Amino acid sequence: MSAACKKPFKRKRFSKPQQMKTKFRSSARWTKFRKKLKAMQVLDPVTGAELDSKYTVHHLDMDEFNYCNLDHPENFICLNETSHSMVHFLRDSAHGWRYAIMALIKIMKHMDRIAAQKQAKELAKERAVA
Ligand SMILES: [Zn+2]
Repeated sequence: MSAACKKPFKRKRFSKPQQMKTKFRSSARWTKFRKKLKAMQVLDPVTGAELDSKYTVHHLDMDEFNYCNLDHPENFICLNETSHSMVHFLRDSAHGWRYAIMALIKIMKHMDRIAAQKQAKELAKERAVA
């Protein structure tokens, strides 16, 4: 047996708050709250698409001491999986979410300009033929 096989198996340990969150998310209280929120919100507010079966409930209050506080439903929002990942991704981005969103707007506008230029060229070509 190699030395690597003799090493005891190390279980990935989660922090106390993470363990508490995981336990809370499997509670009947959370499940009921989650379903109630989805009944009130049909669409993903980021994309406008219908919430799918993998929707998640995002905590708008990021204070982990309020994680289990369901007294303020307005502090939660249902998001489809990709939208939820994007919210966290942008929030945690190196220069902050405002910078990331402004950069995305610039990129999207540039893409729109390129598409508009292409469309204008095609239209001019069609007019030249006709
Ligand atoms: Zn979240």
